[in-house]
Amino acid sequence: MKGGDFRAREANVYRLAQISVEIIDQCVAQGVPFAREYGGLLDTRSFGGAQVSRTFYARGQTGQQLLLGAYQAMERQIGLGTVAMYPRHEMLELIVADGRARGIVTRDMVTGEIEAHMGDAVVLATGGYGNVFYLSTNAKGCNTTAIWRAHRKGAFFANPCFTQIHPTCIPVTGDHQSKLTLMSESLRNDGRVWVPKKMGDSRPPEQIPEAERDYFLERKYPSFGNLVPRDVASRAAKEACDQGRGVGPGGRGVYLDFAEAIARLGAGAIKERYGNLFDMYERITAENPYEAPMRIYPAVHYTMGGLWVDYDLMSTVPGLFVTGEANFSDHGANRLGASALMQGLADGYFILPYTLADYLAQVGPQPTDGNLAGVTEAMAEVGARVERLLAIDGDRTADSFHRELGQIMWDHCGMARNEAGLRKALDRIPELRDEFWRNVQVAGDNEEINQSLERAGRVADFLELAELLCIDALHRTESCGAHFRVESQTEEGEALRDDEDFAYVAAWQYGGEGKRPLLRKEPLDFENVHLAVRSYK
Ligand SMILES: Cc1cc2nc3c(=O)[nH]c(=O)nc-3n(C[C@H](O)[C@H](O)[C@H](O)COP(=O)(O)OP(=O)(O)OC[C@H]3O[C@@H](n4cnc5c(N)ncnc54)[C@H](O)[C@@H]3O)c2cc1C
Repeated sequence: MKGGDFRAREANVYRLAQISVEIIDQCVAQGVPFAREYGGLLDTRSFGGAQVSRTFYARGQTGQQLLLGAYQAMERQIGLGTVAMYPRHEMLELIVADGRARGIVTRDMVTGEIEAHMGDAVVLATGGYGNVFYLSTNAKGCNTTAIWRAHRKGAFFANPCFTQIHPTCIPVTGDHQSKLTLMSESLRNDGRVWVPKKMGDSRPPEQIPEAERDYFLERKYPSFGNLVPRDVASRAAKEACDQGRGVGPGGRGVYLDFAEAIARLGAGAIKERYGNLFDMYERITAENPYEAPMRIYPAVHYTMGGLWVDYDLMSTVPGLFVTGEANFSDHGANRLGASALMQGLADGYFILPYTLADYLAQVGPQPTDGNLAGVTEAMAEVGARVERLLAIDGDRTADSFHRELGQIMWDHCGMARNEAGLRKALDRIPELRDEFWRNVQVAGDNEEINQSLERAGRVADFLELAELLCIDALHRTESCGAHFRVESQTEEGEALRDDEDFAYVAAWQYGGEGKRPLLRKEPLDFENVHLAVRSYK
C-alpha cells in the first residue's frame, strides 16, 4: 500500500500478499530455477522499497525465468491439446454482442485474413502500454491496441497516467535507438549510486576522490539508501542531472558503482550474483563494469494504469476479463520491484480460475457461432481500418510519428509533469494524429507479412491513448508515486499527495470519436493500512 503511495485498492493488495507464497511454489513446480541457499532452501534478497530480504529471485533474470516457466507450462498444454495456439495473429477488435464480450477479431499477420474468434468470455492478457513513449525497456512489439480497442468498446481505462520510470537503465545514446535496456533493480543491492559533487565535473570516475562524490540516495534517504523505490530513485537521478551533475554524453547519467562491493566480497561473488547483467552491459556500452562504474539513467518501464477491473478481474464490459499488466489492479501509483509477475501470475493461476468460472456459471451456455449481432460489424470495422491505412499513401513512416509522439510524452508527461507542459502536449497530440491519418506511409499490401501495416495500426492507437494519458495527468493535480506534478511537492522536493481530493481510482469512459472521455471515480478506502506520508528517509 505504501509502495503504491496509497492509490491501490486495499482488498486487492491484501489478496495478492496472501497468494504470493503460492505463486513461488507454483513456479518452482514449473521448473523456474530460483536461487537457493547452500542448504537447498530457496534464497531471498532485498529489493527496492523493502528493508528486509524477502524477494525470491533467479540471479539477475527472475522476470525472464518466470516467463519461461509459464511459457513452457503453456506449451505443455498445447501439446496435450487443451490450449489452441494461434501464432502470428493480432487482435484488432473486441466483439460485444448483447452487451457482453463474446469474442475478438484478429488479423492473420502472414496472410492478412481477418478472422472472428468466438467464446463465452474474453480474457485479455496483452501487457502494458509503456511504448507510448516510443523508447522504453519493453519489447518493441508491446503495444496498446488490444486494450485500447476494448476501451473504445466500453471498458473503462483506469489511471492511465501512472507510468513507471525505472532508475537503472542504460542511458539513451542517440536518435538511432529504438528501445532501451534495463539493468535489473537487484543491482542496487550492491551497487552505489553517485554523481560528482561539482557541476560539470568531466573527470573520469576513478579520478574523482571519495570526498568529491555525492552518494545522493544514501545522503537523502539514509534508512533505505540505494534501495528506495523506483519512483524515488528515478526522480533523485533526474534532479542530480538537472543540476548539471550528470555524467556521460549529454550529462544524462549517474554512476552505479560496484567498487566497494567488489573490494568487500570479491569480483567472484559479484560475478556470481550479476555476471549476466555485467556481460550485457559490457556488450552494449563497451565498458567493463568490474573496472569502471556503470552509467545508468531512468527509462520508461512499466504501466500501473490499464483497463479498470473489479475484484473478479472483470472490466466494465461484462464477460471481458483483463489480467497482468493490461489491467490496473494492484500497484497504485508505483509498482515495487518483482511484483509485476507476482500479480500477473496470481491473476492467471489463482484468481481467474475461480472468478471466470463463476461468471460462466451465472451466464450459462451461450451460442458461439459467428452469426451474432456485433460480429459482422466488428469484422467490417477492422477491414475498413486496414484499407484506410493502406490507402493514405503519405510520405512519413509510422515510426517517425511514433518517435515524435514519444518525445512529446517524455518531455511533457514523463518523470515530471506540469500544467503548461501537459496543455502543450494536449494541443500537439491531436495535430500529430491528424497528420498521421493524412500523411502516414504504409508500404505493401494486406495479404502478406506487412510490418509497416502492423506498426501503423498500433501507432494510431498510441496516438489516441497518449491524449487520455495526458488528460489524466492534467486532472490529477497532486503528486503520488510515479505521477509527479511539479506544482505539488514538499519543500524537499518529494511527492505531495492530496488525499482529500484524489484518493480515488480515475476510471475513464470512452466518450466517442473526437469527444472528451468521461471521468468515473472509484473511491479508495483504507481500513488496515492507514493513510500516511510515504517516507524513506
Ligand atoms: C526488461 C524487463 C524486465 C522485467 N523484469 C521483471 C522482474 O524481474 N520481475 C517482475 O515481476 N516483473 C518484471 N518485469 C515486468 C513484467 O515482465 C511484465 O509486467 C509482465 O511480463 C507483464 O506480463 P503480461 O503477461 O501481463 O504481459 P506481456 O508479458 O507483455 O505479454 C503480453 C502478450 O500479449 C501479446 N499481445 C499484445 N497485444 C496483442 C494483440 N493485440 N493481439 C495478440 N497478442 C497481443 C504480446 O505479444 C505478448 O506476448 C520486467 C519487464 C521488463 C520490460
